[in-house]
Amino acid sequence: MSFQVFGLPVSRGVAIGRAVLVASSRVDVAHYFIDESRVESEIARMRAARDAVAGELTALKRDLPAEAPAELPALLDVHLMLLYDEALTGATKQWIRDRHYNAEWALSAQLEVLARQFDEMEDDYLRERKADLEQVVERLLRAMARGPSTSFTPARGATPDPRDFAGEDPLVLIANDIAPADILQFKRSVFTGFITDVGGKTSHTAIVARSLDIPAVVGAREASRIIRQDDWVVIDGDAGIVIVNPSPIVLEEYRFRQRQSELERARLSRLRHTPAVTLDGERVELLANIELPGDAPGALEAGAVGVGLFRSEFLFMNRGGELPGEDEQFEAYRAAVEAMKGLPVTIRTVDIGADKPLERMSVNELRHEHALNPALGLRAIRWSLSEPGMFRQQLRAILRASAYGKVRLLIPMVAHVSEARLTLEALARAKQQLTEAGKPFTDVEVGAMVEVPAAALMLGSFLRLFDYVSIGTNDLIQYTLAIDRADEAVAYLYDPWHPAVLQLIARTIAEARAAGKDVSVCGEMAGDPAFTELLLAMGLRSFSMHPSQIASIKQRVLRADTHRWAARLEQVLNAEDPMSACLEVKRALANAPTATPAAAVSVSV
Ligand code: PEP
Ligand code: MG
Repeated sequence: MSFQVFGLPVSRGVAIGRAVLVASSRVDVAHYFIDESRVESEIARMRAARDAVAGELTALKRDLPAEAPAELPALLDVHLMLLYDEALTGATKQWIRDRHYNAEWALSAQLEVLARQFDEMEDDYLRERKADLEQVVERLLRAMARGPSTSFTPARGATPDPRDFAGEDPLVLIANDIAPADILQFKRSVFTGFITDVGGKTSHTAIVARSLDIPAVVGAREASRIIRQDDWVVIDGDAGIVIVNPSPIVLEEYRFRQRQSELERARLSRLRHTPAVTLDGERVELLANIELPGDAPGALEAGAVGVGLFRSEFLFMNRGGELPGEDEQFEAYRAAVEAMKGLPVTIRTVDIGADKPLERMSVNELRHEHALNPALGLRAIRWSLSEPGMFRQQLRAILRASAYGKVRLLIPMVAHVSEARLTLEALARAKQQLTEAGKPFTDVEVGAMVEVPAAALMLGSFLRLFDYVSIGTNDLIQYTLAIDRADEAVAYLYDPWHPAVLQLIARTIAEARAAGKDVSVCGEMAGDPAFTELLLAMGLRSFSMHPSQIASIKQRVLRADTHRWAARLEQVLNAEDPMSACLEVKRALANAPTATPAAAVSVSV
């Protein structure tokens, strides 16, 4: 049966594939294809894990202390029975044989199928057996992790392309939630798109998806409950629509759109080396946001004239809690700096916390975190200042990278002048330590992110202490409107067009410019073409975004006339509904004859 699910569009494009349902706690289970010759050994691996777990359960039952509750032996018997149930192990073998899934993936796929059957049971007792099944599967997964692995470990190498397997269909991943750190693995994974039940448009999961250019829909609420393993799914990442089991005619329409969007990208990519200059001759800097040094070549390729935001916290993720040391960080920053070939690289100190916990937590711990309101807690610079040794280590690593190119340091979420002072003291101390150790570095510019309304409202104090500011609109919106950016329940209120947000942005840009300091925007608004003219009208000349967005923003810049727009700025800022006012201005300017002499640059794409 065909049906649709609606969510929030977070990453453009169309993905078409078969659904792979993954429980949140198992997202980090490796997903990869094995080739035909490995099918039997993969099944043997699963059998070995089953025997190991059977041994564990039998020993547990034998060694139960006398005071153990009377139900425990019966419960262990249920687990043993489930372990040998054909519905679990037999069907798992089938996933391995027919689909060439690795054993862990096959097992979690089958768990999802069975969990649904349990959910639909009328009988309470039977329904509750789902938890037992999950425990048995967790034990099996743990046993597999301990046991011999296949020779191919996807985390360390490139995952085979599903298209290499004759007859394999493309796959899309569906989960209740996916941590930002897990999304990073997508680059090496077999999935061509994803859908989550929870999340907001600027949650970090969505941001990373955008940076990877994977079609995605978040906040689709019931998706992981109503879509079934193996259903055909179309993800419309532009509209936030998921079409499940589409009719042939709908499928054809989406395949057509897929081809169109590839053509459009190819067309826009011709602008790669065109300088971003407006019709009235204003030069605009288009920078890239990156998560890992490996993203830097892609940024150059997309035509970025530097990195405006390197979210360094991603170096701290997927490491089992162990933090990267100074040398390891230095190598990563140096790699990014060298890859940018002399262009500036803005490295932000770690922004850990809120929806970017250091380690992937269990769902319960995440809920607990939410209960404590982590977005208002120990996050970003607050976290760094609470770990002075770690902070200085990062500062030294960043400073050392400055010997290899142009580095700018950026501090997230500053709200208090005291935080700014402590940061500058830590930087001075880090410099002193490097000098004493004879390690080279150059003087780096230091900037503050304006992400908290308090910082925007007392910008003057920060402008005296910092060389530049960068507006983090994702958090500025969250904190101005008191809307958790990762919570789909209030996503409809997360509004970048809110007059209060626009006024804070306009005033920050104007004040920074008046003080002769550089100002840029590095939140998602910078890469959203709906805001390009408005931000230009506010005086913004530096935008930082995902590399994949640079070409379309450049196209906007090339067609904009900042003087004519600036004259209409107040009309938009003072409107009750700035979005409609902005559209009105766009229409009026498009219809009015241009006063600007022939375009400073003429570009046709
Ligand atoms: C922002 O808040 O706009 C920003 C760029 O930082 P992050 O999205 O990493 O919080
Ligand atoms: Mg932020």
